Amino acid sequence: MDLLEYQGKQFFARYGIPVSDGEAVTTVDDAVAVADRIGYPVVVKAQVHVGGRGKAGGVKLADDADAVREHAGNILGLDIKGHVVRTIWIEVASDIAEEYYASFTLDRSAKKHLGMLSAEGGVEIETVAEENPDAIAKIWIDPVDGLSEADARDWVERANLNPDATEGAVDILRKLYTAYTEGDADLTEINPLILKPTGEVHALDAKVTLDGNSTFRHEDYSEYEQTQVRDEREEDAHSKGLQYVGLDGYVGVIANGAGLAMSTVDIVNQVGGKPANFLDIGGGANAEVMAGALEVINNDPKVKAIFINIFGGITKGDEVANGIVTALERVDIDAPIVIRIDGTNAAEGREILSRHESASLISKPTMVEAAETVVALAKERGGQ
Ligand code: GDP
Ligand code: MN
Repeated sequence: MDLLEYQGKQFFARYGIPVSDGEAVTTVDDAVAVADRIGYPVVVKAQVHVGGRGKAGGVKLADDADAVREHAGNILGLDIKGHVVRTIWIEVASDIAEEYYASFTLDRSAKKHLGMLSAEGGVEIETVAEENPDAIAKIWIDPVDGLSEADARDWVERANLNPDATEGAVDILRKLYTAYTEGDADLTEINPLILKPTGEVHALDAKVTLDGNSTFRHEDYSEYEQTQVRDEREEDAHSKGLQYVGLDGYVGVIANGAGLAMSTVDIVNQVGGKPANFLDIGGGANAEVMAGALEVINNDPKVKAIFINIFGGITKGDEVANGIVTALERVDIDAPIVIRIDGTNAAEGREILSRHESASLISKPTMVEAAETVVALAKERGGQ
């Protein structure tokens, strides 16, 4: 779950990270009222799930109520990279001496958390990584050990921040690490982390991605659910209770179990195709679930062929085959479907499918054969 900046700042504040006082509003009048209350100058900031708002005109300083009125009016309704601004955040403006970058993410291959810190903040970190990679100080943190004060201090020194920022940065980075781990975040990023002329270090922006699977531990995270932006396909799948991730290719993928769904995505790539999605229908592959999955895939105009990959365990092959046949009676599918059923009652399942086999419903006994067939069909139909 991606948080908006103001939600990220409220999240940070809970862990003691200094952020500016402010309030989120949706109208120009409310923006002025908040600015009058918190005191000028203020910053008017677009709240959208995308970075680079400053460059797009979505972050403006305002010295008085007239300026707030003007900027709030311009920013509300502004389209920033396809995201229309509906909410703005008004906060007390800060004086900036220096802008830094700080973040924590998971480095899966290292099996450790990765902290990144740079004296070159305010700009996109990808640009720094490309043009001046040495300007990013990295630290790999064993989740069991955590981030000690000594390690944080050494890390800050390697990043060559202004020495005035050392104490404040060490403190914030340790709090940011706590927020990242205890808050079950996949990403916590501050860009810019600023040093004020008065010597305080402060989070001027907040980018937070929370692990959606951790909500059982954090009841309050349900409020973030409402501000998530999903593409239409994801919205549709989500409402049907399916585990779905939209991708850019042209082969629709349906599999049972996240592991098999990932392997299916891999094998489509391996035989030279491009998956349009990841879709795990889970254990109960009945007609209802299958019809829902097929509807979601069918509504994606990029899909040129569909690969249904089922390994029967507790779910039986014949039940899945019946589910597919029934689902196809309910959903009008344009794209040809290639099915591979293996595992429990696979033979019975294939037997059922064979009675319905046609040019647009093909059963293949192995994953590789099915993948090759579906990719060839998709390409014939213009998939690229
Ligand atoms: P982003 O462009 O979406 O990353 O939005 P940010 O919140 O990072 O703001 C972009 C830039 O606006 C920052 O890097 C700052 O240079 C500037 N900015 C934001 N807030 C303030 C503020 O309170 N005071 C000043 N002087 N500049 C600010
Ligand atoms: Mn930023």
